[in-house]
Amino acid sequence: MGIYDFYRRGPRVAEIAAVAEPDDQSTLQELREEMPARKSVIAKVANENILPVLTPHAEQAVSDPIAALKLIREDLGDCTRCKLHKQGRKQIVFGVGNPRADLMFVGEGPGADEDTQGEPFVGRAGQLLNNMIKAMGIRREDVYIANVVKCRPPGNRTPERDECETCSPFLMRQIAVVKPKVVVALGAVSAKNLLAINAPMSELRGRFYDFVPAGARSSDPSWQGTKLAVTYHPAFLLRDPRQKGEAWKDLQMVMKYLGLTPPKSGT
Ligand code: SF4
Repeated sequence: MGIYDFYRRGPRVAEIAAVAEPDDQSTLQELREEMPARKSVIAKVANENILPVLTPHAEQAVSDPIAALKLIREDLGDCTRCKLHKQGRKQIVFGVGNPRADLMFVGEGPGADEDTQGEPFVGRAGQLLNNMIKAMGIRREDVYIANVVKCRPPGNRTPERDECETCSPFLMRQIAVVKPKVVVALGAVSAKNLLAINAPMSELRGRFYDFVPAGARSSDPSWQGTKLAVTYHPAFLLRDPRQKGEAWKDLQMVMKYLGLTPPKSGT
């Protein structure tokens, strides 16, 4: 499978190209549109996502994020905490990437490819996410990628509330260890679980939220949380490529905050 990069056609026109499927290529023309700069809105999320009592975890005493993430993985073990453990998962998909990343992407849960390979976002949606990351002027290895639930829901169904509630504390701990400057929630399931608010994507997107991972504490007392932005899940963008321009606007907002510059065409 070939992979197409994101393209830029001058300073104000952007395209998000899809993975190499004929149908996807035909949508490239649709993606060309003017991209006025979006005004970033800093919005405070109500303290619903901040638990008053924080449970101490072993990784809080460890300053090295690699060692800290290893402790979280060990704590997770061969997890049987929710029913997804007995619904056909091949393996737990913990997370991947730079443990000191400024940017973290959080999806919903592993799919078939991820379940097989043990790494998040490695299928077609993963290839599109790679293209999105590349278009931001960085590499997949520069970011950290994880999901709300770490085991594949059967038939790629949406993870259920109890599954998300059981598994997401481990994600929160990962976020507290990585201490990214920005978390990008990919899709409504991720956004609603991270923010603990129930709203349509049209309302969730287009702004930054102040985000503190619920129930997790960083080893760095100076770390007071991160910004969180919401965009479409790459799997949704593969189904509805017309929304890629909207996703690119979300990423441009994140790039502006992080001071990232897209690579020049041809690089
Ligand atoms: S989804 Fe999370 S909580 Fe459920 S079994 Fe897998 S690792 Fe454990």
